[in-house]
Order: sequence, then structure tokens, then C-alpha cells
Amino acid sequence: MNQIININSFHKNLLSWFDNHARILPWRQNPHWYKTYLSEFMLQQTQVDQVLPYFLKFYHKYPDIYALANLEEQEILRQWAGLGYYSRARNLRKASIKIVKNFNGNFPETIKDALTLPGIGIYTAHAILSIAFNKPYAVVDGNVKRVISRLFTINEEITSIKALKKITPICDFLLNKKYPSKHNEALMELGATTCTPINPDCQSCPVNLFCKANQDNAVHLFPVRIPRKAKRNVFYYTFIIKHNEYFLLIKREAKGLLASMWEFPSLEGIEKGYSQKKLLKFITNDLGINGKIDHIYKSIKHQYTHLSASYTPVKITADSKKQTFEMFPDWKWIKPGELSQYPIHTAHKKITRNLEIETKG
Ligand code: SF4
Repeated sequence: MNQIININSFHKNLLSWFDNHARILPWRQNPHWYKTYLSEFMLQQTQVDQVLPYFLKFYHKYPDIYALANLEEQEILRQWAGLGYYSRARNLRKASIKIVKNFNGNFPETIKDALTLPGIGIYTAHAILSIAFNKPYAVVDGNVKRVISRLFTINEEITSIKALKKITPICDFLLNKKYPSKHNEALMELGATTCTPINPDCQSCPVNLFCKANQDNAVHLFPVRIPRKAKRNVFYYTFIIKHNEYFLLIKREAKGLLASMWEFPSLEGIEKGYSQKKLLKFITNDLGINGKIDHIYKSIKHQYTHLSASYTPVKITADSKKQTFEMFPDWKWIKPGELSQYPIHTAHKKITRNLEIETKG
């Protein structure tokens, strides 16, 4: 860091801006560590707007750590369905069980103990300990990294370890040791609402006087980013297998992408598609189902972090509910009205909505 910064003015400007501009968010009202804990799990890799309805639902249904710790894994996945990154839901449950068992239902207030909790890494530990307990730990999330990279014109690619190694000590130096809770929230808020990725509002920024990128007219150059590799395209056939009013639903393996979620049986395909003969062969030989193809629908798209997926729904009428597959850990024939009882991931939920399976069957 080769800039001289008047730290007292920086703190004063930032905190008074936060006092006047902080968004009203449910986890900030009547604050309690449980609200911070729940919201921080949900906010990992996810925007506030997307988190809000899930936070409100969870907080209403499970108002304390004991209620979360008592949840079955399938139930927490079902409630989390649609928010993505499902390992967070599994870890939230495991961490809650550990807090109840090992820490008498209280969040551990030392960094060493906090880091023993599943799903809690250094970022989340710092966030919870500083925001909920006012401990002097600096938070370095994506928003903070962007703000610091502009304030100090950090010339490293923003997602790199080198950038993190430069940004972390700056955050430690800047931390307001008297008000770490407010300071961290203010810096994150500044990144989320003012120092945004595109068109930051430098004019109304409370720390613009300290900002090197702003002084140099170089805000557009920071943070430094190397263009991302294009996502890999994947193609799936999704079989909506129906016998009378029942649909076949299967449970995914307990490991890997979308672990333990429920879905319709699928086959990875190729871009130019498979013939109906090949699809029927899969149904007959791999699923052990005798039936006929009724309809092949238009594909739907779904984006994952590294994948761009295309799902082509294929409606099959099965002769019976008999099947012989062994490749799935669990499966059920269910009625359309029962779909909401299962944790179904977003892409297949889109299919149920598009095909109006939930309502008409
Ligand atoms: S002046 Fe602009 S670029 Fe600098 S921290 Fe503020 S909003 Fe970000």
C-alpha cells in the first residue's frame, strides 16, 4: 500500500454514510447472532434479493438454532430448493447440530472454535464474529475486494490469491477496531450499493477523496479481471415417465453436483441430439421400463457456475410402474400434487412449471 490515508476521516465518512444509507434488511432488525449466522450462510455466492424470501421463510419456520438442528437433511434441502449451492444447506444443518451439541446452543466466540463448524471458513467466521459479536476481524468478501481494489488500484487479477494477499492486510489496516461490526457492514454495503461492478456512483461515495482509481480517472480499469473461460455446454434428456396419474422421481447420489436432490431420470446427450430409438433403448435397457415416447418438448436452459445446461423433456407413458434400475439410491412413483414434498433442484422445477405438471399432472 503506497497511499497515505487519513484513517480517522475514512472511518468517520464511511460510518456516517452507513448510518444514513444502510438498506433495511431483516437480519439487521433486532439483530441477534442467529440472524447473522443464517443470513451469512445464505449470502455465500448469492445476491441479497435472492436471499430475502428464503431468509424470511427460514427465520419464520426455524426461529432458533434448535429448530435448525432438528431438521432432517431432506427437509432442509426441500426448503432450500431454488437457492442453489446445496452443500450450504447440508452444512448449515451440520453446523447447527454441532453448535447445539458442543457449544450449548451458542455460536462459539473464538475464531478457532468457529472454524470447526462445517461450512464456516475464514470469511464467514470473520463476518459472524465481527457483525454479531463486534470482534475485531476484517471481512474480505467480493464486494469489499472490489472497493479496496479501486481505492488502492490493486493491479492483480481480483480472484487470484495474489490479490487476496494484497487486499487482506489492507482490510486489517483499515478496520475500525472500535466498531468492527458497523465498519464491515458499511464496507460491504458500499460495494453492494455504490461501488458497484458497473457504473459505480463515485460522486456520492463517502470515501471518494481517498480513492486512487477515482483520482486517476481509472475506475473503469479496476478490479482487474481476466475474461472467464466460456462455460462448458451440457445437454440432457429429462424423462417425464408417467403411469396413470403417477410420475417417476429419483434421488441423486449423495456426492457431487446437486447431491441428494430429487429429479426426473436423465440421460446426458449430445448437441445434435439422439434418435428416438436411442432414447427408448435407454428407457428400456437402463431404466427397465416398457413404454412409449409421447412427446419431446422444447429444451429449457439453466446456468450453473461452470456449466451451461440444456434439458430436453421427454414425456413417456409407461406400461406399468415396474422398473429394474439399480443406478439410483432411491426412487418414488408420486402424484403431481406430491412434488412439493421433495427437494427438486431448480432446472427440473422449471420443467415441472413449463409442463404444468404441478397443476395438471
Ligand atoms: S470513489 Fe468510486 S471507485 Fe472509488 S470507492 Fe468510491 S465508488 Fe468505488
